[in-house]
Amino acid sequence: MFRQRKAMLAHRHAVPAAFSAFFSIEEHQKAVDYGRARLQLGMARMWFQGFVLASWFYFGFLSDLDTILFDYVPSSLWQPVALIGIVSVVDGMLSLPWSLYSQFVLEERFGFNRSNWKIFSGDLAKGSVIGAIFLVILGAPLVWLMNTLPGVWWIPAFVFYTLFQFLIIWLWPTVIAPLFNKFSPLDHAELALGIKQLVEGAGFQSSGVYVMDASKRSSHGNAYFTGLGRAKRIVFFDTLLQKLRPEQTLAVLAHEVGHLAHGHIKKGLVLSLFMSAVAFFALGWLTLRPDFFMELGLSPTHGVVLLVAMWLGGLLSVPLAPLMSWCSRRHEFQADRYAIERTSPEALGTALLELYRGNAGSLVVDPLYAAWTYSHPPLTERLAAMPYPTKD
Ligand SMILES: [Zn+2]
Repeated sequence: MFRQRKAMLAHRHAVPAAFSAFFSIEEHQKAVDYGRARLQLGMARMWFQGFVLASWFYFGFLSDLDTILFDYVPSSLWQPVALIGIVSVVDGMLSLPWSLYSQFVLEERFGFNRSNWKIFSGDLAKGSVIGAIFLVILGAPLVWLMNTLPGVWWIPAFVFYTLFQFLIIWLWPTVIAPLFNKFSPLDHAELALGIKQLVEGAGFQSSGVYVMDASKRSSHGNAYFTGLGRAKRIVFFDTLLQKLRPEQTLAVLAHEVGHLAHGHIKKGLVLSLFMSAVAFFALGWLTLRPDFFMELGLSPTHGVVLLVAMWLGGLLSVPLAPLMSWCSRRHEFQADRYAIERTSPEALGTALLELYRGNAGSLVVDPLYAAWTYSHPPLTERLAAMPYPTKD
């Protein structure tokens, strides 16, 4: 992060030569300032979260809470669920000021914020209710398995968790996402025809193209594919449609179809299944080793085990991040190539440039920082991979 900040500062004074025809100095400096502000906030937030996490152990909050809860919730099924619930609520409340600052101060300062208190608190309330429902329908069966099948519980637990994930992916586009945004069918005859040809040309069925009212929260633009099987849909942010010309929108869509055609979505799913299998195996192994928890000053009750597992999972994903980012970037290149073959390099290239302009994406990238964290290749590399001249 420090390296990225340095790289951005060093290039703040001038637009990188490759982009000088497309970006004004003001746009470039806004992107640099925005990128730096987000980095700084991200760093501060990371330190804070690390401190909170360490506090649960170091000051004994977690084990105290666990002990107290045994008095109030004597059920061996609901005590662990209550523990996870309370810890999640506390963590959620502690992260609230950060989200508020990010949305209403930082994004506001750079003119991206379109949200207001009503939308924000509505999102928070809906998110909390959904979180509570997930906790009960996922947590309770896991604890029940731990109670009933000590030693081998992690095998059925993994199966159950996988089914749960599929349920969420299936319900997401039609049930959960509409709670937060309005999705309306795309109302643009010329675009709709082009999209139909693209999608059907790739041999896919889709249950439609939707426009999401992203503009009610933020002016950032994006597009994505969602859902499984028949419930698959293409979603454009309304903000994206406002910024791009029809042929550019089609190129962005072709990129998304490229992901689908290359099977990236299936591969990602298989990878995440594999990772959760490893995680559950490790968890099953850990529960047979109480000394690991003793060393952290904890007694390995079911609630504590599940929480530690969640945190360990989060921590372990950090060393894996470069590998995941590398995979993801390779997929982005493949999707770009797919899009170029079906539309044109000009359309995709200028669409990407417009997106960077609109989102104040950083043109300056430190290679090491990018290798570690970027899920998408830096713009320069993406454009260089296209037979499309960036300077003209
Ligand atoms: Zn992509």
